[in-house]
Amino acid sequence: MSLRWTVPIAAVALAALCLFILDGTSDSEAVEPIPPTPEGDLWYQMDEEGNLEFWGNGTIFYDDRWSGCITVTVGDGPVNFAPGAFENCTSLTTVTIDGNAGLGDRVFGGCISLTALSIGGNVGDIPSTAFEDCSSLTTLSIGGNVGDIASHAFEDCASLTTLSIGGNVGDIASTAFRECALLTTLSIGGNAAGIGNSAFEDCSSLTALSIGGNVGDIASNAFKDCSSLTTFSIEGNVGDIGQNTFDKCTSLIIVTIGGNVGDIGQYALYNCASLTTVTIGGNVGDIGKNAFNNCNLETFEVTGGIDSISDRAFKDAFTGSHPSIFTVHGNIGPIGPVAFESSLTELNVYGTLDLDNMASDAFQNNCLERVNVRCTQAQTLIGAQGTDAYGMIVKNNPVVRALHDYSAAYGWSDDGKACTVHIVCANSSDHNHDENPTVTSSVKIQPTETEMGTTEYSVSGTYDGFAYSSTKDVQDIPATGGSDGKKDNTVLYVIAGVAAAAVLIGGAAFLILRKR
Ligand SMILES: [Zn+2]
Repeated sequence: MSLRWTVPIAAVALAALCLFILDGTSDSEAVEPIPPTPEGDLWYQMDEEGNLEFWGNGTIFYDDRWSGCITVTVGDGPVNFAPGAFENCTSLTTVTIDGNAGLGDRVFGGCISLTALSIGGNVGDIPSTAFEDCSSLTTLSIGGNVGDIASHAFEDCASLTTLSIGGNVGDIASTAFRECALLTTLSIGGNAAGIGNSAFEDCSSLTALSIGGNVGDIASNAFKDCSSLTTFSIEGNVGDIGQNTFDKCTSLIIVTIGGNVGDIGQYALYNCASLTTVTIGGNVGDIGKNAFNNCNLETFEVTGGIDSISDRAFKDAFTGSHPSIFTVHGNIGPIGPVAFESSLTELNVYGTLDLDNMASDAFQNNCLERVNVRCTQAQTLIGAQGTDAYGMIVKNNPVVRALHDYSAAYGWSDDGKACTVHIVCANSSDHNHDENPTVTSSVKIQPTETEMGTTEYSVSGTYDGFAYSSTKDVQDIPATGGSDGKKDNTVLYVIAGVAAAAVLIGGAAFLILRKR
């Protein structure tokens, strides 16, 4: 290229650059209003304040005219946001969508002023880059369901404080919310299909997480180092909880799961030094190695059973400063070595312990004071007091009590004056027992002149810690009428007789006087 062309080309390029800069400057200083405009079934308009409004339904594409908009409001829709529809719209602060929406890649990427986004209806999948670099986003609220949330979708949304989703969520992929350092509250009203690896790792401000429905698997490290997390609550079932899931959640106090839990991975709640209460409303699969090692548990209660407990799972898991209670209402499978070497003071097992598959040191160095086990196993443990047998559960001579599964049947006499209470142990008929408690009575319904009254007969008492009570009503109080009624009638007859006699005498006297 010769020199004579270079100069004009450079001049043109420079002029174009100046125009571009001027154009950019004018865009950021003034907003060009847009009158109501249709595009297919979708309409839009923008006022001079930068309030951009869409109604109808269709797809919103990127348009230079959106630049400078401050708010975006979308009606019931449904609408789709095409990829990059508002990318790098640095003036945009608020997006409100009344109905359902689909979000394309980088739809709000680089919207560095965006603070609040609310969607009233459902959202499809949230792509990985949808909110990339939304460094001012504080609130994300979705009223309905959300599809899958992709990896990195909200990673580094450094201002995000509240995420609430009213309905269900698909998979929350790995690292989706990693290092959202200000995220304090996460609530999901419905189910979550699954939570991926490190999905919330290092969300150091997250204090409470609640999920109203079921959750699929929670993968490894999902909440690792969430050092402010105090409460983790799931109403329904949880799939498997991966390893190190809550590792070093040093503020975690309460874990509540309403339903069943799959396997709890190794080190899943390792070093949760504030964790005092774990309540699981169903069955639990295998509890992995060191899963609760170095916690500060006061109570650990499982409504169902536990398939197995691995090595050191509850080593140093219970605090020694107050009573610490481990209660399982179902059966417990094999227990591994040193699983309960800790300050546990009370063990309650309503189901059965797998005594044959318990490591010989499962409870070594324990400080059990009370062991309450299913009645069918109590004698076995009592017989082993002070020995190394059965994983050393009774090595230090705790008080061993039998847990019976009692119910009562009541054999009342017809007159209610006697009752035999048949106490039945569902675990073993050998533990059945009859009681003949004193019967007490009280008037339940007072008699009337014509109706008999009712007596309520009662028994109550306690047998071997089992409280029973029953009542029987017998209509056995005579009516107040009875023989007195006859007397009254006699009086009536006498009065009637006297009256009749008086009439007869009066009549006779009248006739006699008239004849005279
Ligand atoms: Zn029993």
